[in-house]
Amino acid sequence: HAGTAQEPGAEQGPAAYQDAAAPVERRVNDLLRRMTLEEKVGQMTQIRVGKLRGDCNNVPGPLVESCMKTVLGEAKVGSILSGGGDNPAPDPGPKAWAEMTNQIQKYALDNNRLRIPVIYGADGVHGHSNLPSAVMFPHQIGLGATWNPELIQQAGKATGEAMRATGVFWNFAPVSDIARDTRWGRYYEAYSEDPFLAGSLAAAAVKGMQTPAKDTAQLTATAKHFAGYSEPKNGHDRSAAFIPVRQLQDTVLPPFQAQFDAGVKTVMINSGAINGIPVHASRYMLVEQLRERMGFQGVAVSDWEDLRKLVTHHKVAADYPAAIAISVNAGVDMAMEPSNAAEFTQGLLTVVRDGRVSQRRIDEAVRRILKLKFELGLFERPFVDPAAAERAVIGNGVDIARKAATESMVLLRNEKSTLPLSTSVKKLVVAGDTADDARRQLGGWTVEWQGVPAEGPFPETTTVLEGLKAAAPQTEISHAKDQASAVAEAKSADAVVVVLGEKEGAEGPGDTEDPSLSPAQQQLVDAVQATGKPVVVVLLTGRGRVLGSVSDADALLSGWLPGTEGGHAVADVLFGKANPSGKLSVSWPKTVGDQPMSYDQLPGANGGASSKYDPAYPFGYGLSYTSFEVGAPTTPSVAKARDNVKVSFTVRNTGSRAGTEVVPVYIQQPVSAVQVPERRLVGFARATLNPGEQKTLEVTFDTDQLALTVGDVDGAGRREVARGGYLVEAGGKTAPLTLR
Ligand code: BGC
Repeated sequence: HAGTAQEPGAEQGPAAYQDAAAPVERRVNDLLRRMTLEEKVGQMTQIRVGKLRGDCNNVPGPLVESCMKTVLGEAKVGSILSGGGDNPAPDPGPKAWAEMTNQIQKYALDNNRLRIPVIYGADGVHGHSNLPSAVMFPHQIGLGATWNPELIQQAGKATGEAMRATGVFWNFAPVSDIARDTRWGRYYEAYSEDPFLAGSLAAAAVKGMQTPAKDTAQLTATAKHFAGYSEPKNGHDRSAAFIPVRQLQDTVLPPFQAQFDAGVKTVMINSGAINGIPVHASRYMLVEQLRERMGFQGVAVSDWEDLRKLVTHHKVAADYPAAIAISVNAGVDMAMEPSNAAEFTQGLLTVVRDGRVSQRRIDEAVRRILKLKFELGLFERPFVDPAAAERAVIGNGVDIARKAATESMVLLRNEKSTLPLSTSVKKLVVAGDTADDARRQLGGWTVEWQGVPAEGPFPETTTVLEGLKAAAPQTEISHAKDQASAVAEAKSADAVVVVLGEKEGAEGPGDTEDPSLSPAQQQLVDAVQATGKPVVVVLLTGRGRVLGSVSDADALLSGWLPGTEGGHAVADVLFGKANPSGKLSVSWPKTVGDQPMSYDQLPGANGGASSKYDPAYPFGYGLSYTSFEVGAPTTPSVAKARDNVKVSFTVRNTGSRAGTEVVPVYIQQPVSAVQVPERRLVGFARATLNPGEQKTLEVTFDTDQLALTVGDVDGAGRREVARGGYLVEAGGKTAPLTLR
């Protein structure tokens, strides 16, 4: 109870919670019973680092003692974050970052009687992306096209190392939302439209980020944004979504479950509303689904200012204390940036004291937060060594970033064997602004929320123009900045490379009504194509853009948002040093009406072409400079519940170059009481093969993966695996499988 917490020193010797050798549960219980209610609600609060600076309101510059006193000393806040765009300016570099987080930690420890460390969080969504000196990996949409969990795990590991070294132990990544609507500003932050692929890759990222640390405390990743955040009906960030239980359980939640199974310790809550209930107010989502069905035991943090938004935006609460009560009762354990620390903690104290929120619920939330801090080792290792920060940040992961960017490239079209280009071509014209625009190439969530600010310091980036020049030093390469010069120079060139991009952005400001390439982009490609010279179009976009006339270009390569090494990766693929192996993890829309879009659509009664799945390029698509042949899959003919089913098949390189092939394995269910898509992804394998080489690949899936929510309309929401006949599909061929 409030007021009955013990003062330290009431007992002899060090307290049990300070004993690193004691079991975590015992430490949590011991600490919890010593805490006052004020201390508990402080732990449930996360405040932006800007509030520790200047006039305590995000004024750039150093930390200010009086501001720290308000937030850490008085409100007793348990967590600090750098939200996108909340970084010290000018960039202080990794060492100064580490010193800053140490300074915050020291103030927090010295000014709370129980010496509970703060946990510092940031968005490391493609590397330690708040730091201009860090390596930027491709955004998740590009990583999705690699279908390479090991590589994603390595990128996650490098990201985690960089973050930990600067005192950041909570990474608000990876994104587990599925990408189905290219109008959505955050589409590029997701791995895939497919729940199995998105979940497998997110789980790999979690394992990498949470790789056990030797010299510092551990880091936790975040499964975000729980759940259904990518599903607004109109495609706009944080607007209303309507998700039937069947869609929720069979499509939206599985990627989160995959991350929970991989050991992720926190979730961040979807800022939007589902079926008329904001998720921050939804006990159904945050308790029944998250805790009871899915078994998640970690911390659920709100998204940015989302408690107040129950009053100001969603209008499901009359005032702020009511909003706090609703969301804490629904299952929010920690409030991210409630903008004013004291206002939030006082509000929470009020609703506990007047009985709207129980002490028990507070204890439950605080227990989870303390458990996290104990498990990460923050009590034992609250500080970092600033001298080690630069080594862990600068250049860390650069080879992985280049490999990831290379493997993310999807070759969409290659007529007349336009690609690969010969490094002996005499003259190459490179056209389009994006060819030499690092800001665009890096995309949103780089240094700041909407991308690198105009005056800001840049992560060291190789643009496509620079990458091509480095790869072909003997070729004359010019950059034509406008259409007229591109056409003029093309006349004397051997080939033209046009690089098209999109404006960097995130969230609402990144939304788009029309995901088409612009008329100017299309005219540029048309004009150079009319010169009769071979034209290669490189798309550096965070989504499949409707191509229009660009779909007729001789060659088309999607490089997504490939990060700091992107220019080298594009050059390696264009000149054939690397053989493209990326496969679409999303459907590429053909028309602006193809929203939302995914390959797993349900069959309908209308046979018209546009009623069916009819993208420009389908899920799983991607060309290579060689060719492969996949043999018929073999499986056991019968399986039971919870069996692991082994599928094997041969893959042979039938062309004349070494290359990597990705083989998705799908399940088909010819008859089902509940409608099912024609095929559902259940596994995948990749193999690198020399010309003529053949390998046998094995993919294992669990029959539980075939579960579907049963019952008419939404039924009771139970998921079951149906008995009966299935087909396992690989490489376009099938093998029968009966489930008994
Ligand atoms: C985003 C989150 C992010 C948070 C902190 C929010 O606006 O929705 O994804 O983690 O800001 O930067």
